[in-house]
This record gives sequence, structure tokens and C-alpha cells, in this order.
Amino acid sequence: MAEKFLTVDLPSLPSASETTFKRRKVGFVSLGCPKNLVDSEVMMGMLAEAGAELTHETDDADVIVVNTCSFIDRAQRESVDTILEMAQLKAAGKTQKLVVAGCLVERYRDEIRKNIPEVDAVVGTGELEAILRATGIEASRPSSPFVILQSRAEGILREQQGRFSRESWDGAIADLPNYLYDDTTPRLLATPKHSAYIKIAEGCDHPCSFCIIPQLRGKFRSRRFESVIAEAEKLAKSGVREITLIGQDTTCYGEDLGLKDGLALLLEKLAAVPDLRWIRFLYAYPNKITGRLLETIAAHEKICSYIDVPLQHASASALKRMKRGGSAEVFLRSIEKMRTTIPNLTLRTSFIVGFPGETEQEFEELCDFVREARFDWMGAFGYSDEEGAAAHHLEKKLSAREIERRRKQLMQIQQKISKRAKKALIGKRFELLLEGTSDETDLLLEGRTAMHAPEIDGKVFVNDVPEGEEVLPGEFYPCEITEAHDYDLVARIL
Ligand code: SF4
Repeated sequence: MAEKFLTVDLPSLPSASETTFKRRKVGFVSLGCPKNLVDSEVMMGMLAEAGAELTHETDDADVIVVNTCSFIDRAQRESVDTILEMAQLKAAGKTQKLVVAGCLVERYRDEIRKNIPEVDAVVGTGELEAILRATGIEASRPSSPFVILQSRAEGILREQQGRFSRESWDGAIADLPNYLYDDTTPRLLATPKHSAYIKIAEGCDHPCSFCIIPQLRGKFRSRRFESVIAEAEKLAKSGVREITLIGQDTTCYGEDLGLKDGLALLLEKLAAVPDLRWIRFLYAYPNKITGRLLETIAAHEKICSYIDVPLQHASASALKRMKRGGSAEVFLRSIEKMRTTIPNLTLRTSFIVGFPGETEQEFEELCDFVREARFDWMGAFGYSDEEGAAAHHLEKKLSAREIERRRKQLMQIQQKISKRAKKALIGKRFELLLEGTSDETDLLLEGRTAMHAPEIDGKVFVNDVPEGEEVLPGEFYPCEITEAHDYDLVARIL
């Protein structure tokens, strides 16, 4: 249970014994994606600034906060199980207060309080400052300085079409979240000291029929350009060397601020921040990857030659039902352009298999596409039927068994592609960011190259270091790949 607790450093805060009052100890469990992790980091920053002590021992926390995920059914179940697990601690008198935050609150705000009476307070994704009142640390805090100036035209259109409506959601309030932190918001990193996420935008205006994120997180809104740069500079000064830009859709960055090619402009500016070594962005939307963006990636050494573009499917008819558009042919052309503009590009994608009505032929089209596109990294997820998503009303749902069969089949195709590609890397040299001792065995070190985004891609195990050399986590070293497995690599530091 304790390993779910976030670990943070509090170097500048006095210890409990140094303060004249007993500081409340707050423990955080952060579930879901890096976007949710940044929300947890912001809430922890606010709590620490207000005088709370953060702890990663469940038995030691006066208050436990569970920051939940509600993206798909499985994530909702994990969130509820974790809340119940923490509720038991409260019932056993080990903790006094239980707070639930995050996406599950946006979906089931009233239901949570009604059905889990141990929960003392809930905090939605649009009201992060309320964590102070909810945990009993501070009565209130001035609200976020961020003001939404205007929406993207697509956002206005989708709103008129009812995309963001939560009227039919039992237990949810009608108001959509519109919060967005900025560079002045306190934040405590839960990632290793050398690496940090920066959320550059929040919400989403796209109509994907399987997805309820727009209802959970609100309309797309970008952080101010200067605020992102200021945060990156601050992080770099504190020792961060790797920045990963995130948002539901990073490629729309700046459109609501009137910026054209906002992400490319932002990357260019970030590449000039001294001390940053690797910069990348995740979650690109396929038709938003512009020539200018590709050229910017290719032109700057610090910007990793890495694109993560969740394509979700490759059959035009399935994509149409998903309300995304595109086709295998369109995607292959676009991949070709990416690879020609950016030499040695690492390409990551993810797919949903077993979408309602997915025929054998559509699935075969997807398999053929995967064989041809030869992604460096690929995830495959079985369709999850979300109440509140447009796809929930579609007919011809596939059985869970068939969905899983297709998911496995697609992953097997990718496994072979990955194995061959990783083998071709043996003998090649890369820059390695050393992360520390391997999670799998104390006998190995572990690190990543620019081909590996934090947390999601395979690993590089290090089994050889030059004699007498002391290597340190968070530092970069030249390495040579000596072995390759299906997804992971083994390297020696040179
Ligand atoms: S772009 Fe991503 S977050 Fe937005 S609706 Fe589609 S799947 Fe959901």
C-alpha cells in the first residue's frame, strides 16, 4: 500500500520539530496519467507552502489524499479500490481525514460522498486550491490568477453540440473545470530531481466518441507562453535536465491564445533555456503535426527526435465511428513525412481495439498498418465502454473475450517488430540519462536514452561501468548497446 504514496523532497521546509506547532502530515496517492501527477504535485506544493508536512508513510499520515483517475472503467475501479483501502485506515484510526480529488470527483462527486461516508471532502480537477480547506490546513486561498480569455473555435462549436454537457451524469455538477496552474503556483516534484513534466494546456475540444476527458477536464485552454518558459527556467535552475510537455493535446497549444504553431514556438524557446538537455512533448493529435513543428524538432539538438501520436485506429471506417478521421493511407503518408524530416525519429503510438462494430476486416487493416508503419513503441488498449461517451450508444459491441484476443494479437505483431528493431541497435552509441539502481535487481543500473520517454517506454539496463568511475543518477553518460530484448536494452557506459 505504501508504495502508492508519492515521494517528495522538502528541502526548504523546517521539520516538524523545528516549528512551534504540530504540522499536519498529509500523504498523497496519485493514480492515472502524468497530467494527474502534475495536479498532485501542485496540490502538494500548496499544502507544503501552507505549512503541511508531506509524508509517504500511510501509517504516518493525519490526512490521506487520493487523486483519482476516471478515464476508463478499469481506472475507475482502481480509484474506488484505493479509496476503500484508505477508508479502512481511517476506520482503524490510523488516519483522521480522507480526501478524494481528481477525475472521479468530476464524474461522481455526490455519489462518492453518499456511498463512501469515510470520505471527508472531495476536490475536483477545477478547484485544486480547495485542497487546503479540504485537508483542514488552511481556511481558504486566493483563487488562481489564470483567466480564460477565449476558446478555440472548435471548442465553441463542440460546446454548442453538447460535447461538454454533464447533464445526464448522476452525481456530477454542471460547472466545467477551468483551472490551470502557472509558474507562480507552488509545486513539489514527485519525479526524480532531474526530470519534470510541465503541463502546457488542459482540457480538450476534440469529439472522440470513446472519450469522456472533455467532460471531465473541460474545454481546451493553454497556459500563457511566458508562464511555461518561466517554469522551465525555474526547474532548470533547480537541477531538472529533462522536461516533458504534457496536455490532453499538446499540438493545439496556443490556438486559444491566437498563436500559430504555438508548440513549435514554445519548443524553440525552451531549447534556448540553459541547462536543459532533453525536451519532448507527448500526446500529439495526428492532423495537428505541422511541417513547422517537424522542422523545429529536427533543428534543435535538445528537442528529442521523438513523437508520441496516439492514432487509436487505422481503418477509415472505424476512425469515422470514433469521430477522429484519418486512414491508414493518410497516416502512412504523414509518418513518411515525419521520418524524412526528422532523421532517427522515435515514433510512439497507441490504439484502441474492439471498438463497437469493429469488423474482422477493420481489425486486419489495423494489423497490416502496424506491420507497415513499424512503430518504435506501441500500446494497445481494449475498448472500454464508458457511460457518458458517445460510443456507449453504438450497437454491435464486441465481447470482452474477443476484444482481449484482438489486443493480444496486435501486441504480438508489435513485439516482433520491436524485437527486430531493438536488435539492430546493438553496437550503436547513445547518450544515456542514468536513473539509478534498477527496480528489478540491485545488481543492475537503469537509464534511458532520448528514445525513451519517462515511465512509458522500455528500459535500458546498465551492466558495465568503466572501472574506478563513479556514476551518478541524474547525470548523462555515453553508452553502447550490448544486448537487446523484445522491448528493453542492455548497455555499457563508455
Ligand atoms: S484527443 Fe484525446 S483527450 Fe481529447 S477527446 Fe480525443 S482521446 Fe479524449
